[in-house]
Amino acid sequence: MSDRRNFLRGAAASVVAGTSLLAGGTLSASAASQLAQVKLKPKRIIALEEHFMLPEFEGYLHETQQNLKSGLVDKVVTPLSDFGQRRLDIMDEHGIDFAVLSLSGPGVQIEPDTNKAVRLARYANDRLAAEMQKRPTRYGGFAHLAMQDPQAAADELERCVRQLQMQGGMINGETNGLYLDDRRYDVFWQRVEELAVPVYIHPGNPPDYPHMYANHPEMWGPVWSWAAETCSHALRLVFSGTFDRFPGAKIILGHMGETLPIQIWRLDSRYKIANTKYEIQHLPSWYLRRNIMLTTSGVCDDAALRCALDSMGEHNVMFSVDYPFEDTKTATDWIRNANISDSERNKVAWENAAALMKIQHL
Ligand code: MN
Repeated sequence: MSDRRNFLRGAAASVVAGTSLLAGGTLSASAASQLAQVKLKPKRIIALEEHFMLPEFEGYLHETQQNLKSGLVDKVVTPLSDFGQRRLDIMDEHGIDFAVLSLSGPGVQIEPDTNKAVRLARYANDRLAAEMQKRPTRYGGFAHLAMQDPQAAADELERCVRQLQMQGGMINGETNGLYLDDRRYDVFWQRVEELAVPVYIHPGNPPDYPHMYANHPEMWGPVWSWAAETCSHALRLVFSGTFDRFPGAKIILGHMGETLPIQIWRLDSRYKIANTKYEIQHLPSWYLRRNIMLTTSGVCDDAALRCALDSMGEHNVMFSVDYPFEDTKTATDWIRNANISDSERNKVAWENAAALMKIQHL
């Protein structure tokens, strides 16, 4: 790292901390404004895995209680439920210009009554759209979808994108034991391709409790099982040929790609000797780079980011926090100072997301 960059980062850190680098402790107005701009590097920040909650869905949120420390879910309900000053103050304090909001999972995907799930998903999306309309320059949205009914989910995604100005959809893992490569979801993927919007595959629990997690509750959830589950979900789409049938469909994975970036070489190498049910047209890496984008949510780690940029491509990595489950300051301080080029930093922080989701007002 150059001395100049070190100096600027030190200066930016001082501005953040409210201290001055200069002897005497005063800064001229122009120097202060220059340093404030340093703090603002990258030029913009867009965050994509930022959750909210509505009272009608808190019962579904408690499904997640089994994966987390006792009482944690109750603690996050208050920050999740705020669309106003508390959320905006945190965004402002840490320089997040635009947040694409999503209902905290699993939501209606665990509702046993399909008609009720479809109805409640529409309600959640209408409520989110109302909040987006109040602050169109700050909030976007990912549609909440009742995946029990693939046709209804496709129609709702279209309504949310075309009428409610949302940026795509979010799906929380499997639904009723069905994964997204099931041919019943072809109607959904066809619509995703037509609409040219991404679908964020957010972690959820699998339909059964695998024996390998027996007596290891710490591995059941964000420490490990969600990465294995969500990564497998994405790989099912690759190996089933879903992306051969719908080449324009794009998904987003959080948590630095749920371990995928480090696996790419081996996926290609061992696919050649694997038993296969469907012969995909290209090697796995080809689909990973074309159809899968990832976010940095919950992984504030330079080594993991370097790997993601190098293996997935610099256009496929996007910043996120995972608010309020992760700390906004930790995530934004990290991306400002991560050991990557400023060109890469701008791509990750906002340019890739703006291009993918056609966010033009920034
Ligand atoms: Mn999340």
